[in-house]
Amino acid sequence: MSCIFGPVPSRRLGFSLGVDLVPFKVCSLDCIYCQIGKTTCKTVERKEYVSCEKILAELEKVLKSSKNIDYITLSGSGEPTLNSKTGEIIRRIKEITSIPVAVITNATLLSDDMLKKDLLPADLVMPSLDGVTQAVFEKANRPCASLKAEETIKGLIDFSKVYKGKIWLEIMLVKGINDTEAELNALKSVVKQIKPDKIQLNTPVRPPSEEWAKTLSASKLAKIKDFFGDKCEIIATFNKKGHKAYLKNVEDEILTLISRRPVTSDDISSSLGLHINEVIKYVGELERQKKISLKIYQGKRYFQR
Ligand code: SF4
Repeated sequence: MSCIFGPVPSRRLGFSLGVDLVPFKVCSLDCIYCQIGKTTCKTVERKEYVSCEKILAELEKVLKSSKNIDYITLSGSGEPTLNSKTGEIIRRIKEITSIPVAVITNATLLSDDMLKKDLLPADLVMPSLDGVTQAVFEKANRPCASLKAEETIKGLIDFSKVYKGKIWLEIMLVKGINDTEAELNALKSVVKQIKPDKIQLNTPVRPPSEEWAKTLSASKLAKIKDFFGDKCEIIATFNKKGHKAYLKNVEDEILTLISRRPVTSDDISSSLGLHINEVIKYVGELERQKKISLKIYQGKRYFQR
C-alpha cells in the first residue's frame, strides 16, 4: 500500500499531497469524532511504523509527475508524530522540494523535547486541542491511559515558544461535550498562551467514529468564533478553483460506483484504489453538493445516490 495519497482538495490547505507516517490506525487517541474510524492500535510508543526510506522514495516518484501541490502534509491514518523518523522525514523532504511541509498532529506527544525539535523545520504545524480539563480530554479524545491534558497543553505552549513557522490550532467542537461556557473559557485562556496564527473551529460534519458525536449548529459556531476573536475562523467548505478536471474525474468514478449499489468508504477505497482519506474528502464534497446521502444500516455507514 502506498504511503502517499492525493493531491486531495483540502478545506484548509488547498491541494494537499498526503504522506502517511503510520499505518491505519495507529494513534495515541481514539476521538469520538474521528472520521477515519476507531483506533486499532492505541499507543504512545514512537517507532518507525513506516520506513523513512520507503516514504521518501515514493514521495520523490510522485513529485516527478504531480503539479500544483500547495502543501506536502504529514497526516494520514493516525497520529503521524508517532513515527520516530518524523524529524528526518521533514528535513529530507525539504532537501528535495520547495513545497511547504505541514504537519497535522493531535499534539499529545509534544511534551517530548525530541519531537519539538523534529517539528522545527516544518512550515506549518496544525495541532488540535479539544479540551483543557482531563474530564473533557477523556470524553472527547479517549487518550492512552498515560496521557494527561495538562502535559499536552504545556507541551503545546512550550513548542509555540521555540517554533518559528505558522501554527493553526484546530478545535473540534462536539455538542454537549466541549461546548460549555466553562470549557470554552478555559480553552480561550490556554489559546492565549499558545498564540496560534489561526484558531480553526470545526464540528463533526463528516460521519464520526461514534454516531452520538453531534454537530454544533452554525449559529452556535458563529458565536464561539466571535468569542475567540480576530484570528478565529470556522473551517470553510473547500471551494478553491482549479484542478476541476481531476476533481471531476474522481467524483465521476465515485458516483458511478455508488449508483450501482450503496457502498461504504472502505468499498470505495478498495474498488477505486483510493486512500481512505481521499475517499472521505470526496464523499464529503459530494454530500455537501447533495449528490449522495448517508444511510446507516446495521451500524455501518453507506453512501447512496
Ligand atoms: S481524529 Fe486524529 S487524533 Fe483523533 S483518533 Fe482520529 S486520527 Fe487520532
